[in-house]
Amino acid sequence: MEGAPGVSEPLLEVRDVVKHFGGAHAVDGVSLSVSPGETLGIVGESGCGKSTTARLMLRLLDPDSGTVHFRGEDVTRARGRRLKALRREMQMVFQDPYSSLNPRRTVGAIVGEPFAVHGLHPGSGERRRAVQELLERVGLGAEHLNRHPHEFSGGQRQRIGVARALALSPRLIVADEPVSALDVSIQAQILNLLRELQRDTGIALVLIAHDLSVVRHMCDRVAVMYLGQIVELADAGTLYSTPRHPYTGALLSAVPVPDPRQAGRLRGAAVSGDLPSPHDPPRACRFHPRCPKARERCWTETPRLDPKPGGGVAACHFPLRDDEVAERVPAGVTGTRP
Ligand code: SF4
Repeated sequence: MEGAPGVSEPLLEVRDVVKHFGGAHAVDGVSLSVSPGETLGIVGESGCGKSTTARLMLRLLDPDSGTVHFRGEDVTRARGRRLKALRREMQMVFQDPYSSLNPRRTVGAIVGEPFAVHGLHPGSGERRRAVQELLERVGLGAEHLNRHPHEFSGGQRQRIGVARALALSPRLIVADEPVSALDVSIQAQILNLLRELQRDTGIALVLIAHDLSVVRHMCDRVAVMYLGQIVELADAGTLYSTPRHPYTGALLSAVPVPDPRQAGRLRGAAVSGDLPSPHDPPRACRFHPRCPKARERCWTETPRLDPKPGGGVAACHFPLRDDEVAERVPAGVTGTRP
């Protein structure tokens, strides 16, 4: 799959990666690319494989098969110093800032740790200044340097996680549900922070989320995952205005509508039924047991990710028609940046 049209060579390219854990099909043939400076959203229910995909991208996990290239280099084969150098350019922001921060260390030591690992800013005064600068970029200050993680709120702890991810001036940050553990009132602040940093620095960002409302104003393109596979991928504007996969349509029907005049409008039902076990995924189209449009072809023939009317790709034999889109997706749900 290609990056956004008119954009340079992909920064990161994932090709047909597969990862199974004890028979569970966590990720099953995922391909996608991220262009320099792009924000790509990956969305799906818990257990759809999005976090595993994130870890495969950064080589925090090894795939069973498939490849991951970063700036043309095969990350899955990198070892030793090469891998360390690649890791410097790709950083992760974790879902739960508290468990990813060592409670016994000060914020200064936590944020400065990447400098120590990579031998940067060796003098203690210089390192302290560099850490302070990072804290200021995420909205914290010098007064926080000697405090410990438990002295901060959830939102502040996520700011510390972002500061640490920025320490080595990476080209790519993968943020795995960075706001799902935070109060709703704080979520927008952290998303705004990520968006500002992304705009200021040109870092590429992969933003993982479990619902489409979180990534709505953040992403250039959005991939929707279901049971270890990408089922739809499109520009954010296209995906939000004309979803073609019934699963995307169902997810969008559950997105809150900003326009109060639309709020009471009857829309398509959100996804019904439970996510099937990834140990024994349904045959052919994995969405067929939950899909209101399923017919025989759906359980006998696997749909491929093919281009669909209006742009983007979707894996569906019977993609949503425009009238079905209008039924499911309320006016006012858009994916364009504000
Ligand atoms: Fe639904 Fe069939 Fe499309 Fe699968 S292929 S999403 S079951 S219509």
